[in-house]
Amino acid sequence: MTDAVGLKAYECDGLTAFRMRPALVVLAESTQDVATAVRICGRYGVSFVPRGAGTGLSGGALPGPDSVVISTARMRKVLAIDADNRRMTVQPGMANIAVSAAAEPYGLYFAPDPSSQIVCSVGGNVAENSGGAHCLKYGFTTNHVYAVTVVTPSGEVVRLGGNSADPIGPDLLGVFIGSEGTLGTVTEIVVRLLVRPIAVRTLVADFATAEQAADAVSGLVSHGVIPAAVEMLDQLAISAVETATHAGYSRDAGAALVIEVDGFAAAVGEEFEIAERLCRDNHATGIRIAQTSRERDLIWKGRKSAFAAMGRISPAYLVQDGVIPRTRLAEVLTRIDELASSAALRVANVFHAGDGNLHPLVLFDSDDPEETERAEGLSTDIAELCVAFGGSLSGEHGIGADKACSMPTMFSADDLDTMKRVRVAFDPYGLANPDKIFPTPRLCGEKSGKYRPHPLETSGLIGRG
Ligand SMILES: Cc1cc2nc3c(=O)[nH]c(=O)nc-3n(C[C@H](O)[C@H](O)[C@H](O)COP(=O)(O)OP(=O)(O)OC[C@H]3O[C@@H](n4cnc5c(N)ncnc54)[C@H](O)[C@@H]3O)c2cc1C
Repeated sequence: MTDAVGLKAYECDGLTAFRMRPALVVLAESTQDVATAVRICGRYGVSFVPRGAGTGLSGGALPGPDSVVISTARMRKVLAIDADNRRMTVQPGMANIAVSAAAEPYGLYFAPDPSSQIVCSVGGNVAENSGGAHCLKYGFTTNHVYAVTVVTPSGEVVRLGGNSADPIGPDLLGVFIGSEGTLGTVTEIVVRLLVRPIAVRTLVADFATAEQAADAVSGLVSHGVIPAAVEMLDQLAISAVETATHAGYSRDAGAALVIEVDGFAAAVGEEFEIAERLCRDNHATGIRIAQTSRERDLIWKGRKSAFAAMGRISPAYLVQDGVIPRTRLAEVLTRIDELASSAALRVANVFHAGDGNLHPLVLFDSDDPEETERAEGLSTDIAELCVAFGGSLSGEHGIGADKACSMPTMFSADDLDTMKRVRVAFDPYGLANPDKIFPTPRLCGEKSGKYRPHPLETSGLIGRG
């Protein structure tokens, strides 16, 4: 695809603040198509960006000015189902939820469940090592993939992983998952399926403050209860969700916890009682238990629509993704509040509390360039705050273009150098999704999109020649 209107759809991913028109887009339909496109790019030294559904929130699928986007979104077939061994081979463009739908007749499902699951692709999940609400108990994408077929940056087709969970040799599959399209393009995935749980119970507990809800989460974990999911929404998030979905969250609560327990009926009953008791011990002002699967679905609809619902209360927002030790949730939420106040911006919090995986949503007006800049600064400050509290720059959305400049807050120069060597081993000419993950002086001083002079240029120290 080369027409200007068509290319516009590929200018950015879910991080819409960063935009760049690609040179052209390849709509691949097979491994062979991808390999051909990659080889042609290699022959002419043109960089390329693999892309799935474009729901990424860290600018991972952001093209460079002259790069080719290789979209795997049209590769949506189930290639094989082996229900006895609980495996399915799929093409990367399948939507996450479509994998579970294809497994349903066998009583099976695919556990990673990003809130974007109705659209995001399994290829994107592999590239980002995506998580979701139920990853507290079941783990991330990396725990649910046996093998992948990959077109390497030099155009070779290789298979990483194997039919068992722990194949012999160095764990190249482990290296590949979460590499954000920088080590190759995945064209087939052998996913691990799980048996659907026999019993599921879900509650929503209301608290006067986010700190009390955070204390209840710490209590759960220290009691050794691992629910299938523990999600938190603060007051601003509840208000946006209720306005958009009428999911039944209490608008007057300062924070809400969604707790889900699943497994065998007897164990579920016991764990659910402990969860309820811990919420009450931590001053829950109300607890609502889903009585039917419809009520449960509605609770999840509310939670999973939370990012989209922000549109009801703000013209634009940035989603941040950082991890902190769970025991420091209350402290970090207070600190985020302080940072937001000093930037004179609102931050809504809706996140996977059980994992300590925060998603602060920085609300701003994108028509106001000064406010936009302040919002970007606040978002970066929050990510770096997570590192300062002993956490990480990303839980599940990746580093992409967004957080590359913050990498030195978490890794030493030697760490980064080692990671770059791994990348070079896969991609000696640096053509696969360049300018992502690793900081470069150019990117840390400039922003993609409309030209803005580098500070060194403004000061007259460098020119553009
Ligand atoms: C409303 C909303 C809610 C979200 N909730 C969650 C959540 O709960 N948990 C979570 O983890 N994420 C979440 N996300 C982020 C996003 O959906 C995930 O990161 C998802 O895995 C991206 O998949 P995609 O197909 O859209 O990938 P894209 O955005 O197209 O690409 C993402 C990255 O993967 C690479 N890539 C894509 N396809 C391939 C391929 N075939 N081979 C190699 N590399 C490839 C790209 O180069 C890029 O670096 C959410 C996003 C939105 C908009």
